Amino acid sequence: MLNIVLFGPPGAGKGTQSEKLIDKYKLVHLSTGDIFRYNIKNATELGTLAKSYMDKGQLVPDEVTIKMLEAEVNKHANAKGFIFDGFPRTHNQAEALEKFLASKNTSITLMLALEVEEQELKKRLLLRGKDSGRADDKDPEVIQKRINVYNAETAPVKSFYESQKKYVGVNGIGSIDDIFKSLCNAIDTF
Ligand code: AMP
Repeated sequence: MLNIVLFGPPGAGKGTQSEKLIDKYKLVHLSTGDIFRYNIKNATELGTLAKSYMDKGQLVPDEVTIKMLEAEVNKHANAKGFIFDGFPRTHNQAEALEKFLASKNTSITLMLALEVEEQELKKRLLLRGKDSGRADDKDPEVIQKRINVYNAETAPVKSFYESQKKYVGVNGIGSIDDIFKSLCNAIDTF
C-alpha cells in the first residue's frame, strides 16, 4: 500500500494537491476537515460537536477525530492506499494512526509536507473565504488562531515522521502544476 500523510498549515494547498494525487496514484482521499464539514451539513451529532470547535479555529478532540478516521479507513477495505489530509494533527493522533495501521499490517509510507510561509497562508485563506462558504476562512481572528494551533500542536508532528526517516518537505509556493510535479517526484523517488 501507498499511504501518504499530506501535511502542512491551513491554506498550504493540501486539498487541491490531494485531488490530483488520488487521481494519479489511485488512492483514497481522507480529509478529516471534509468529513467534519459533511457531518455539519447533514446536522449529525458529530457535526454539531465538531462545529463548536471549528468555528473557533480549535482542534476537535483527539478521541472523536481518531475514532472517526478509523471508521472511514475501515469503509475502504480494498484501497490501494490512502492520502491522509489534515490528519494527524497532534502527536496523539500520529501514534494512534501508527497503531491502527499496524493492526492492519500496513503503515505510513511517507509524510509529504507543503511548505508555505505565514503571510502567504493568510492571503490565500482570506481569498478562499470569499467563495468557499467556509466560516473559518472569513474571520482573520479565526485564521490566526488556526495558524497558532498549527504551530503549537501540529508542526511538532513533523519530528514523529522525521525520526522514522519518512519526512519530505516540498515548496508549496508556485503554480498548482509545478507543486504537483514536485510532490510526484518526491513520491516516485522515495
Ligand atoms: P481543514 O479542513 O483541514 O482545514 O480542517 C478544518 C477544521 O476541522 C480544523 O480547523 C479543525 O477544527 C477541524 N479538524 C480537521 N482535522 C482535524 C484533526 N485531525 N484533528 C482535530 N481537528 C481537526
